[in-house]
Amino acid sequence: MSKPNRPDRRTFAIISHPDAGKTTLTEKLLYFGGAIHLAGEVKARGQNRRARSDWMKIEQQRGISVTSSVMTFERDGITFNLLDTPGHEDFSEDTYRTLTAVDSAVMVIDAAKGIEPQTRKLFEVCRLRSVPIITFVNKVDREGRPPFELLDEVADALALDVCPMSWPVGMGGQFEGIYDLARDRLHRPAADATGAYEGDAASVAGLGDSQLEDMLSAQGLALLREEAELAQVGYAPFDETAYLNGDLTPVYFGSALKDFGVEQLIDALADFAPSPRPQPGDPRDVDPSEPQVAGFVFKVQANMNPQHRDRVAFMRLCSGKFKRGMKLNQVGTGKSIAVHSPILFFAQNRELAEEAFPGDIIGIPNHGTLRVGDTLLESGETIRFTGIPNFAPEILRRVKLVDPTKTKQLRTALNDMAEEGVMQVFVPQIGSQMVVGVVGQLQLDVLISRLQAEYKVDAAFEPSPWDTARWIASDDPKAIAEFEGLHRSAMAADRDGAPVFMAKDAWELNYITGRFPNIRFSATKERH
Ligand code: GDP
Repeated sequence: MSKPNRPDRRTFAIISHPDAGKTTLTEKLLYFGGAIHLAGEVKARGQNRRARSDWMKIEQQRGISVTSSVMTFERDGITFNLLDTPGHEDFSEDTYRTLTAVDSAVMVIDAAKGIEPQTRKLFEVCRLRSVPIITFVNKVDREGRPPFELLDEVADALALDVCPMSWPVGMGGQFEGIYDLARDRLHRPAADATGAYEGDAASVAGLGDSQLEDMLSAQGLALLREEAELAQVGYAPFDETAYLNGDLTPVYFGSALKDFGVEQLIDALADFAPSPRPQPGDPRDVDPSEPQVAGFVFKVQANMNPQHRDRVAFMRLCSGKFKRGMKLNQVGTGKSIAVHSPILFFAQNRELAEEAFPGDIIGIPNHGTLRVGDTLLESGETIRFTGIPNFAPEILRRVKLVDPTKTKQLRTALNDMAEEGVMQVFVPQIGSQMVVGVVGQLQLDVLISRLQAEYKVDAAFEPSPWDTARWIASDDPKAIAEFEGLHRSAMAADRDGAPVFMAKDAWELNYITGRFPNIRFSATKERH
């Protein structure tokens, strides 16, 4: 097979629970990828990001979140695009959608904690799209849970085959190094006073090699031999196809803080992680080798500068070679958008993009024309990329205006923010109060503070009688009309006018779903 005539890309995200070490790992990936030189650069940003989670100084911190939304580094001729997902526990649909723009993910797990709630949630989103996942068990320099227990937990909790690719020789105080099972190499701490920084790796002839006796304590070696042998017979061998299908995860052990296992992880991304794949679309998929530019918007960030109502739409390039100044057609509206000042993201700066390739992310400044889910094409074809979902909100609140003369501003603000994808807005069929839907409590605080800061609207949220919402559809239009007639007080329209049923609780939802078998109740709505 000939090599594709385009640069090699790995576009990926890191998924993890807060504090598992995502920021530290990001920093080390950028460091080993040569994109940053001083330890601590991303950390500083990470701290800002954390501070941002209370969103109190939104305007000021917006710029930071944008520059760090995509980080790029290169190694051995491969460009790695790392897409950031917000790190706080309460996250928005934004996070989910970012995962629609990656080809693979790295799942970071704290060796002492195993699978945590947010790891699981993010994993589920990856699974929906069969995103291949490499697992990095972090913090082996501290006391952690036994490797077997961690591997079994990943396998059981996520219903995934696991394949250990490396094995830690002890953890915490007993940590002596990491054995690369695939390449039979032992990585040991550097023998300097600073402690456990990774030194040179030694190649050996296998676990039985007597050289290992000089490199490890007798106890450490006995444990390694016993555990690694058990692991090799106890778990599935590495199967690239199963990994690419999202059915198997190769597992690496390491310590982001102590630089352990980070280069192995980059090698794994280079060796196994997929380069841009064909993107599912309607009526046809788009292959990255196609000459004409095609991409989709997976995120919109508004009001980055409060002086201007500017927005940046983040487009993932799926095919073609993008050049600055190019005109792209917005499918559905027939608008043509000249992209004069695209932004390519690098670790440190925003830079004006001259060109970009499939797998790259481009920031397109605009005044609200571009929406999440939009497909942009160089050709005049009508293709829509599919699979960028809206998620059923888990919290529904009525919006109450403090100053009733501000209805119009409120409407504009809510529509803007719904467009950004930070929440959803529903207009009930009965009553005049709009309802907002979010997936986490923190988003409500963010909304209130943004309404004030960006739109000068004082609003509050009141409890609503509903708990969750479902988009409804049926092959029989009469069935929808009949259903709406029966449940008028629980019906609303989303911002595209699609009918939504709001349920009081899971029990009611379950009951109603059972009673109307010819209606599809769906927790996600794909954007078209
Ligand atoms: P994030 O919330 O997932 O981005 O996690 P951070 O990267 O901010 O890390 C959370 C905490 O764990 C910080 O105090 C880090 O210094 C620490 N940490 C991260 N990686 C390691 C590691 O490999 N070993 C140890 N001992 N601590 C780590």
